[in-house]
Amino acid sequence: MSKVLIIGCGGVAGAAIQKCCQNSEVFESICIASRTRSKCDELKEKLEGKTNTKITTEQVDADNVEELVALIEKVQPELVMNIALPYQDLTIMDACLKCGVNYMDTANYEPEDISDPVWREKYERRCEEEGFSAYFDYSWQWAYKEKFEKAGLTALLGSGFDPGVTQAYCAYAQKHLFDEIHTIDILDCNGGDHGYPFATNFNPEINLREVSAPGSYWEDGHWVEVPAMSIKREYNFDQVGMKDMYLLHHEEIESLAKNIPGVKRIRFFMTFGESYLTHMKCLENVGMLRTDAVEFEGHKVVPIQFLKALLPEPATLGPRTVGKTNIGCIFTGIKDGKEKQAYIYNVCDHQECYQEVGSQAISYTTGVPAMIGAMMLLNGQWNKPGVYTVEEFEPDPYMDALNKYGLPWQISEQPQLVE
Ligand code: NDP
Repeated sequence: MSKVLIIGCGGVAGAAIQKCCQNSEVFESICIASRTRSKCDELKEKLEGKTNTKITTEQVDADNVEELVALIEKVQPELVMNIALPYQDLTIMDACLKCGVNYMDTANYEPEDISDPVWREKYERRCEEEGFSAYFDYSWQWAYKEKFEKAGLTALLGSGFDPGVTQAYCAYAQKHLFDEIHTIDILDCNGGDHGYPFATNFNPEINLREVSAPGSYWEDGHWVEVPAMSIKREYNFDQVGMKDMYLLHHEEIESLAKNIPGVKRIRFFMTFGESYLTHMKCLENVGMLRTDAVEFEGHKVVPIQFLKALLPEPATLGPRTVGKTNIGCIFTGIKDGKEKQAYIYNVCDHQECYQEVGSQAISYTTGVPAMIGAMMLLNGQWNKPGVYTVEEFEPDPYMDALNKYGLPWQISEQPQLVE
């Protein structure tokens, strides 16, 4: 019996919205608002008559707090789901605070303009103090903790798959499987093939910023940073097979290092094929991944934004992507005085996702947990004032919901470990 405002209507939002519409008992009414309203209207048209959820649409520029406040006042939701881009996290959090509404998102804050001097100064200090140089980090959103506490509101950060489900796996492992967790390796394998020589399976700008950055991991209480793609491993993934995977910096390492007591090492690996890496290196070498504006024939052009306009939209990859994903966490540690290992993971089939919601598995594996995170807030199971990541909540209802809503998980007690 809830009303929700969903901001963004791209690949991930499309899957999340369809899952909300399969769960009309909780999502009685949704308003979809995005920069391009026609995309919201198209989705509404597709869903109407097939769901009991009442759907309305609006146009909004989520970079503008006043516009957001006017929209929230008009819609009067109990929760705002931010499924736009990480660039909008802070403006949407500000608007939620002004209007007294709970907040959630699927990725932590990152500025669109990395030349902004105010941001730059804090960023350079953080690089020095913390020891990793990714453009995204939790400090900006954790700074809202007291404001959300005082307002009696909850902000749930990063309820996608990774971040998101991977942290629920960690909380579950800590609660049920281990007395002490010593190491966590998060593995993100996409064994899907879309047939293009080069395309990204979520927003290209955010994706390419993430994977072209230096890698880093957490070990013995501090960050270790290494050149991009310099640590490579081979891994035999259940239902996918042998894949090359590379160590990346990833946002959930930062919160898990704080929230899993005694953890000695946390790493994140993602699989990439040769074609993807060769294209990315080439694009980087010629300057196409630059995020600053360059002058071209009297216009200001940001190369990575121009590249996004040339690449296939991730939301259109659904019909042509075949294969499976396998994403999960390998834990080592101690249970009842004995050494123990476990891999908790989900396998998802691109074509099955497409048949169900018209999206490939990356949008699906992010959109389903976005809906589940929203449901946890709406039904009161995860309500506590402040700003929190997924592992800070009771994992069991979220883990049950993953099984129920399309992302069943399994545990291997004898997994192949990563060197
Ligand atoms: P898309 O680019 O497909 O969609 C983004 C949507 O946000 C579009 O509808 C876009 O509008 C809208 N938008 C962008 N800027 C604004 C703005 N200023 N005002 C209003 N709307 C705006 O991205 P994805 O769906 O691939 O990704 C969505 C989010 O999910 C991202 O934050 C991404 O980082 C995150 N993600 C998280 C994952 C996880 O596992 N946790 C995995 C994958 C993604 P328009 O149509 O006009 O462009």
